[in-house]
Amino acid sequence: MRKLVAGNWKMNGLVSSQAEIEALKGLTGSATCDIVVCPPFTLIDRAVERVKDSNLVIGAQDCHAQQSGAHTGDVSAEMLADIGARYVILGHSERRVSHGEDDEIVRAKAVAAHRGGLIAIVCVGETRHERDEGRAIEVVGEQLRESVPEGATSANLVIAYEPVWAIGTGLVPTNEQIEEVHAAIRQMLEERLGSDGNSVRILYGGSVKSSNAEAIFGLRNVDGALVGGASLKASEFAGIISAAV
Ligand code: PEP
Repeated sequence: MRKLVAGNWKMNGLVSSQAEIEALKGLTGSATCDIVVCPPFTLIDRAVERVKDSNLVIGAQDCHAQQSGAHTGDVSAEMLADIGARYVILGHSERRVSHGEDDEIVRAKAVAAHRGGLIAIVCVGETRHERDEGRAIEVVGEQLRESVPEGATSANLVIAYEPVWAIGTGLVPTNEQIEEVHAAIRQMLEERLGSDGNSVRILYGGSVKSSNAEAIFGLRNVDGALVGGASLKASEFAGIISAAV
């Protein structure tokens, strides 16, 4: 399956950061994977303009479940699609924790993403405590069952497995741990979507860098990566992208 490498800039980036997108274009012209950059809302419009005529596409980091209305400070999937975003990250652990987003909210947002024509990157992942209790697969399974909406297909859904304890920490699960969870996710997707579940891309996320990307991409059922910190620097992100063959 063609791999997907997505960069999550989180709350980073000013207008001047467009230089990183320009540099990335120059470094990834011959990439053999799909590439998505998810800058903050404020830069999406400009970024879409920048990546025209390149193999980069732009995504967002969140959307509201409603199409429009009295939701101060929120942005809808339709608004994102309107300015050229193609993907949206949903249910990132930082939003699950700091914005109280539970599976029901994530599912409603995924429905909205599909309604607006966006591809939803739905994030799942256990905490350190849950892993230590031996509950990683159970937790991820529950999140997956409850966050993935009716109508999801391999064309409009990507899953990102992001162990919370590996995000921004430099800690990475063992190969066996990654393969075990990805295999469980694959099985659940097949049960839910039939043979199409085989074609849903399952990304790994959590302290991916150019130095560990090749090994991670070589694991079974790893179809790409969701990258935080290492996506902010074009040269480092390009190193990850070049490992995704
Ligand atoms: C993320 O926030 O989605 C992430 C994976 O972050 P990092 O790569 O910095 O661990």
